[in-house]
Amino acid sequence: MLKELAVNINEVDSVIELNSSAAASTAVSTRVCVAPGDGIGPEITESVISILEAAGVPIAFQEVPMGLSCFSDSLTSGIPEESWDAIRSTGVLLKGPMTTPQGGGMKSLNVTLRKSLGLYANVRPVKSYTPFVRSNYPDTDLVIIRENEEDLYAGIEHQQTHDVVQCLKLVSRPGCERIVRYAFEYTRSRGRKRLTCMTKDNIMKLTDGLFHEVFDEVAAEYPDIESDHMIVDIGMARVAARPHDFDVIVTPNLYGDIVSDIAAEVTGSVGLAPSANIGEQVSVFEAIHGSAPDIAGKDMANPSGLLLAAVKMLAHLGMGEKAELIHHAWLSAMEDGLHTADIYQQGLSQSCLGTAGFTNAVIGRLGQVPEKLRQVSYPRSTLNTVPRINRVIREKTLVGVDVFVHADGEAAELAKRLQSAQSPVMPLALVTNRGVQVWPQSIPETFCTDHWRCRFEATEPVTNRDIVNLLSSLQTFGVDFIKTENLYEFDGKRGYSLAQGQ
Ligand code: NAD
Repeated sequence: MLKELAVNINEVDSVIELNSSAAASTAVSTRVCVAPGDGIGPEITESVISILEAAGVPIAFQEVPMGLSCFSDSLTSGIPEESWDAIRSTGVLLKGPMTTPQGGGMKSLNVTLRKSLGLYANVRPVKSYTPFVRSNYPDTDLVIIRENEEDLYAGIEHQQTHDVVQCLKLVSRPGCERIVRYAFEYTRSRGRKRLTCMTKDNIMKLTDGLFHEVFDEVAAEYPDIESDHMIVDIGMARVAARPHDFDVIVTPNLYGDIVSDIAAEVTGSVGLAPSANIGEQVSVFEAIHGSAPDIAGKDMANPSGLLLAAVKMLAHLGMGEKAELIHHAWLSAMEDGLHTADIYQQGLSQSCLGTAGFTNAVIGRLGQVPEKLRQVSYPRSTLNTVPRINRVIREKTLVGVDVFVHADGEAAELAKRLQSAQSPVMPLALVTNRGVQVWPQSIPETFCTDHWRCRFEATEPVTNRDIVNLLSSLQTFGVDFIKTENLYEFDGKRGYSLAQGQ
């Protein structure tokens, strides 16, 4: 089926309409790329496309190659150039799960797609379908909106000494504004009431602090939405214990990755959960599960995660009516106890169906609405475009530098050498090891590695030239500096953290 519907990406002019009768009555059909993926990917993609076709969705699918068969030493992303071009030109990709090859320098295709296409928002609805699908939390219906590009996933890691590696946590104001505004717009447009922000800004006061600060600023523009903030550790604990207490959550990348899996797992909907990756130009829709090689080709895969992702895609394209038609047919099949093996439960389910049987069950219910599970409603137009960001420019003043040094031995010894190299305009103020002050004050219990942060603070106005001079002097005194971080004030406010114990 997929082969018949698929379009060779080199023959873009000959896109095949999904539904010939629908196509005849629809002057313009929307072009969408589809990548069936690996493992169970082709089976569930075929299932989803059959259901969309039966629902008369006015979409012309264009199949793009990517995944396991495309990985090679010369193509470590697994995505050929022509696929990038096709995705950029349609702006929407429905993506099956992809297997990431182990080793050999191959990169995660999913991360490559997200970062290269600027897919800044990851939207994961998590819902329970009790009493038809077993869940410990019957009333859960929450959406997690995860920042998708920044934070520790910027992928900037270095080994700097024998003992120490680092990963940079990058958080930008434009990045925070985009995701937070998207979350408020989403909450409002979906008729939801409450948006909860989760960060760890009691510890990461600058990075997570910025995310929280932007959340509070943007919240003031949405007085109709109830907004609150939770420290992420207690927030995640509450999601694990009481997911039904939450409505919409917005959170930085790493926390979002973790909390969305916790929510899906405790609710029992991992195999049913969809995910949308939203960007300004391109959006990618997929199930949250992987390629399940253990059941590939056995007619056992549950297509629901990808189907619900396709439903989100239709809503994103402004086809809310079709999204409801398909979602209601799927809810009706759930209610009728027509389940695939992964969610089948004796006593709860009526039949254990294969992928093809379940597909037919959904198609047979197009036009029905669920009687017990709550009906859904989707907006009839695309989500409001997120407004452009206004950059805030503040007065930036250089007030010193942190020089990171690779050295064995004691802090006092190192400090002596550093003081020999310092200049009167920027004397040594502090040495820390793993963030803890070890000079001029220290306590004997502090464990030290070979990686030292040496802070030089300006006593008068300084420039980058003073830093270059300091480094040159450190070089003369045989200090192995491995990186520097300039210390700035913005409008007189400190733009760097203090050391533990400072
Ligand atoms: P997985 O999600 O593929 O499988 C975990 C378990 O869940 C398996 O027992 C599998 O049979 C079952 N399962 C998953 N989806 C199912 C479905 N639709 N119906 C019925 N059962 C289903 O996770 P994994 O085994 O850790 O990963 C396999 C491969 O998938 C890896 O190469 C991984 O990198 C990749 N992966 C891809 C994505 C993606 O493309 N978005 C996401 C996660 C993992």
